[in-house]
Amino acid sequence: MEALSKELVDKIALECIELYRKVPKIGKPAAGEWNVLSSVVRLNTETQKFDVVSLGTGSKCIGATKMSPEGVKVHDSHAEVFARRGFMLYIYKNLEMAITSPEESIFIKENGKFRLKENIQFIFYSSQMPCGDASIIPKSNDNNHGNVVTSRKREAEDGNDEEKSKILKSDDIDDIHRTGAKCLPHNEQDPKEPGAKYHLLGQVRTKPGLGDRTLSVSCSDKIARWIHVGIQGALLDMLLTEPIYIKHFIFGGGVPYSKESLTRAFLNRNGEEQITVPVVPYIYQATAIFYYMKSEQRARPAHTSILVFNFGLVEVAVHGKRIGVTKKMERTRRIALSISKYYLYRRFLFLFQLDPSLKEKYALDKLECIPYNVMKRKSQRYYENWHKAKENFFKSWTVKPDMWSFCITENELAVNVIELNKMIHYTDPRRSIMIPNFDTSIVF
Ligand SMILES: [Zn+2]
Repeated sequence: MEALSKELVDKIALECIELYRKVPKIGKPAAGEWNVLSSVVRLNTETQKFDVVSLGTGSKCIGATKMSPEGVKVHDSHAEVFARRGFMLYIYKNLEMAITSPEESIFIKENGKFRLKENIQFIFYSSQMPCGDASIIPKSNDNNHGNVVTSRKREAEDGNDEEKSKILKSDDIDDIHRTGAKCLPHNEQDPKEPGAKYHLLGQVRTKPGLGDRTLSVSCSDKIARWIHVGIQGALLDMLLTEPIYIKHFIFGGGVPYSKESLTRAFLNRNGEEQITVPVVPYIYQATAIFYYMKSEQRARPAHTSILVFNFGLVEVAVHGKRIGVTKKMERTRRIALSISKYYLYRRFLFLFQLDPSLKEKYALDKLECIPYNVMKRKSQRYYENWHKAKENFFKSWTVKPDMWSFCITENELAVNVIELNKMIHYTDPRRSIMIPNFDTSIVF
């Protein structure tokens, strides 16, 4: 695997920013607000041609008490998570095409599973460093953050004099960039001392929420998880011959950046030299700057998230729901974004409707009787990989209640093809806008 040239890194970052520029104003930050922009990009390594396949913005997360067991709300609306979920839609669409029009798909069907075609790589772009561990960067230019407190190292070096080692290790750094994400409640907590001694390093953290505490881990943790077990998630892993690993991570210019802290957060948290991930990704900083980045003039995070998906969909979200939902709709599935668990599960089941041979292969009979969480647990390889990563790398993780036991009803399955297509090809011309060169309609 080869590194991308500097020119290509910049071209890709610019393309993501340019696509966002073309999206209509609704959902974009107001004056004084900032946002994060993330994208997944497909690269043909032979021709060096690339396409932005999904794009997300956002920086909000809903608290644990507001989670929806029906899978209709997206709890975590950070840009990275939206872009990743949009990418999952892209994978579903391509699996559908592998069944119906194989030459157009990026996958080839092989013995009831799907293999990615040759020369295709995926790149992840984000306008700034992910929240959580990777965002803890020394403010000094030398980036020598071996001096910031590392909990596990400290334990190993000096098990009985914690305080002494905390003070020992921050002599030549005045201050660090901080993250709003917090250490897990049952773990050791940040010392929150002034300057470089504010944070512990290498910790799994949860995102700050709207009101109450969230169970969503920071983007540093989520990305590290994708690097360890693939970006596709449990359901898609069942159908793929191998997990999908992001080969290149590009971060935006004009913002605090440290390759060392990204390497620590993604690959090397325990301070050990050995890196054990299946594909070690390249990490770059582009020079291109995202206009809406956090700055003195833009000090407040925007409330909205935007999802752009390359088969023709733009959705604007607030609090993990489609924008503009009324009180009456609140308890229904009409609030659901196309990237909610609910719709992604419908897409998953749709593949078995589309290709009955898959149903046989996976011994799935009555699709309407299989709850989402039960189906996920069938993904054996994924959970084996995940348990290994948790034990060896993260050491700790949030425990979410096993609440997503919703099923897709027989009626919903009967209209799956109509409903799912409606989400992609929005039909009301008065309310749809085409983005030039992007074949995309906007859904309000
Ligand atoms: Zn984040």
